[in-house]
Amino acid sequence: MLSARDLHVTFPGRRGGGSARAVDGVNLDVAPGEIVALVGESGCGKTTLARTLLGLQKPTSGTVSYRGTPLSYGSKALKAYRREAQLVLQDPSGSLNPRHTVYEAVAEGLRIHGEVADERERVADALSRAGMRPPERFFLRYPHELSGGQRQRVVIAGALVLDPTLLVADEPVASLDASVRGEILALMLRLREELDLAALVVTHDLGLAWNIADRVAVMYLGRIIETGPVEKILTAPEHPYTQALLSVLPEGGEPVVLSGEPPDPSRVPGGCRFHVRCQSLASGAAEAAGVADLCRTKDLPVLDGRGTQAACHLAQARLLATSGEGGHVQ
Ligand code: SF4
Repeated sequence: MLSARDLHVTFPGRRGGGSARAVDGVNLDVAPGEIVALVGESGCGKTTLARTLLGLQKPTSGTVSYRGTPLSYGSKALKAYRREAQLVLQDPSGSLNPRHTVYEAVAEGLRIHGEVADERERVADALSRAGMRPPERFFLRYPHELSGGQRQRVVIAGALVLDPTLLVADEPVASLDASVRGEILALMLRLREELDLAALVVTHDLGLAWNIADRVAVMYLGRIIETGPVEKILTAPEHPYTQALLSVLPEGGEPVVLSGEPPDPSRVPGGCRFHVRCQSLASGAAEAAGVADLCRTKDLPVLDGRGTQAACHLAQARLLATSGEGGHVQ
């Protein structure tokens, strides 16, 4: 349904620096009814990628296609797409206008798109689908009169009121208490079942991905470095970066401490972009597999966004070895 091919988004660098490659070659597909988690540290480019997939950011190069048709920027078609693909932001108190009632907040999308017929019924229906029942009880309330979970439900209702086919949710539960997070995740799963809604969930939290996603795409320094079904990625990750992210979960075993912060996106390292922080390179595991030189000098191809893949010379050497083709890696 949604497809990104060879997507790049580059921003001018700070004074004296090169341009920042916020999205640096991404292929990604989201199928109807599928929930894909886009996971990575802050600053890895996942929010820029999400905005680009929604048509809010024009890519520097590459294409975003919806139902097989590339987005055409500045056109009526883009406005129609923006109706189909709705954004749910991370901070419910920040994304709701404190001066607008719940009714006004949910009706806003209808008014922007000039859909004035049956407004009251549609607002009530969206609130009800988002679990605010009876909806009329909440119409005249203001955000400060709601709990954090209720505010997030209002944000979701504001997206649902336009009958979208795709939600892009940026850290949808990051600002909520643990007790409420489960309710919102259950709501998103129910919406998928009832409405066949697809979702791209942007998060730094692999635990969240485990609870909600069908598929995971792990992003590092502007690129997806591992992708696959959630069970595979979270139980047997191949990429050392995914292994490090998983190790900090409560059940993740011995935490892997990555050295340093992610590099500046205007100074992407040569070779594997993760090599300056990679625990497998530092520990000698890559050397033992005969790929250490490749790690430092040879960039990896952009993953095609399908199946199960890791952009890692060591993972590829292990795959070759187990498939009986020897450990030699080109
Ligand atoms: Fe680490 Fe080498 Fe794999 Fe990069 S390619 S993640 S440096 S082992």
